[in-house]
Amino acid sequence: MTQSSAIRAKGDFENLASDLFIGGRWRPASSGERIDVYDPSTEEVITSVANASIEDGIAAVDAAAAAAAGWAATAPRKRADILMRAYALMTERAEWLAELISRENGKALPDARGEVAYAAEFFRWYAEEGVRLNGEISMAPSGNNRIIVQYQPVGIAVLVTPWNFPAAMATRKIGPALAAGCTCILKPATETPLTAYAMAEILAEAGVPDGVVNVVTTGKSGPVISAMLHDPRVRKLSFTGSTEVGRVLLKEAADQVINCSMELGGNAPFVVFDDADIDAAVDGAMIAKMRNGGEACTAANRFYVQRGVLEAFAEKFATRMKALQVGPGYHPTTQLGPLVNAKSRDKVASLVSDAVSRGARVVTGGSAPERKGFYYEATILADVSPEAALVHEEIFGPVAPIVAFDSEEEAIRLANDTEYGLVAYVYTGDLARGLRVSERIESGMIALNRGLVSDPAAPFGGVKQSGLGREGAHHGLLEFTEAKYIATSW
Ligand code: NAD
Repeated sequence: MTQSSAIRAKGDFENLASDLFIGGRWRPASSGERIDVYDPSTEEVITSVANASIEDGIAAVDAAAAAAAGWAATAPRKRADILMRAYALMTERAEWLAELISRENGKALPDARGEVAYAAEFFRWYAEEGVRLNGEISMAPSGNNRIIVQYQPVGIAVLVTPWNFPAAMATRKIGPALAAGCTCILKPATETPLTAYAMAEILAEAGVPDGVVNVVTTGKSGPVISAMLHDPRVRKLSFTGSTEVGRVLLKEAADQVINCSMELGGNAPFVVFDDADIDAAVDGAMIAKMRNGGEACTAANRFYVQRGVLEAFAEKFATRMKALQVGPGYHPTTQLGPLVNAKSRDKVASLVSDAVSRGARVVTGGSAPERKGFYYEATILADVSPEAALVHEEIFGPVAPIVAFDSEEEAIRLANDTEYGLVAYVYTGDLARGLRVSERIESGMIALNRGLVSDPAAPFGGVKQSGLGREGAHHGLLEFTEAKYIATSW
């Protein structure tokens, strides 16, 4: 298959890279099998990509192993220059990439553009960070020897990513892996493989040597990833996806005691106190709930609103939700695209039915429109029972359940009543209260009077069953290193 390395023009979807990218070469799956890729706004097949076998997965490990020593020994500045070129190429192709993301994922173009900018930023951030991987030297407390600590690449990394941010979840792992001197194999989600292959093209063009980044798509994720995690040359797993699959992979990784970074599911509370600026809270709610149509691990999943301001908040929020333009993500006026597939749309519909059967009141939305594509209406539910399933499970769709609370203590108890702990949103006019509540909510990240936390320069990650480790910031670079301690005296 021809793989164009020419600058991608906006609207050019011909000859998309769709074969496996192994050792710097594009090749079909050894079995010749392909996987269909769908447009969620039409339910039609756009194209197909290679369906890797276990042998193909191991061939990618072979390629990563062959390139490992050379890449680890490459000067940090040279690695940084390549990442900076990748940042520039992504930025140059931003509009084309945004449209590609929108085609295979369904998200509205403004969200897709936001994702491309965010994703590219991980290459720039780690280009800057990779030349600052400083070690430490100190005197042992006994005075007998020096303690030297050096950060070395952890080794070959398997990167597994979800479909909801197909570019950003890949660059958030590839950026630090390359900056730290690791070679890697990216296994993107089956729903959004085209963006991953577009990233491979960009990285190759930026000068990443053959075998340093390999990309394999497969419809047999379980066996292919398992085989890689049982190959003794693999030393790192960086996974972003559901807690359910994360648990399976942690067990797989245990056999070889592989170093794991896990970015898993969320169940973000959005707490509005009665002293909050309600208009600002509604602005924040629109971002926290509706970015990516609710298909984000950081999406506000449960709205806890103090009783005195609940009606005002719900009414203003409903006005904004009703006004959203629904349609194919890549249409210029669309603000809310379809969900990624029928399974996601049906799950959202069943969560809403369950809440309504337990007494929830539909303020706006509440059903899937009669049209082609995996659409669901922007929905607000009030008087939601704390027992409703959607208060405990990730909704991953444009549905906002509102639950009333009376006291600060109760808000904290409700916010913490979950196995997850990725992010929480808190709106209050009292900074002391905001900080007090932020300290007590069990969550890796808090957005205080803001609807967005994601920032390449900040440590992103969760506590409890939302994950292990952090991505972004300097923390994300250290996840791809091992601290080597050398004891010596002189
Ligand atoms: P998923 O867990 O179904 O899939 C994630 C990846 O794992 C995909 O590449 C998939 O093909 C692969 N996979 C599935 N089963 C596997 C198996 N048995 N063995 C190996 N790999 C397997 O998640 P998804 O539906 O693609 O994405 C949505 C989930 O991702 C949500 O739970 C969301 O919260 C989470 N997410 C978390 C973050 C974060 O940073 N914490 C970011 C984005 C998404």
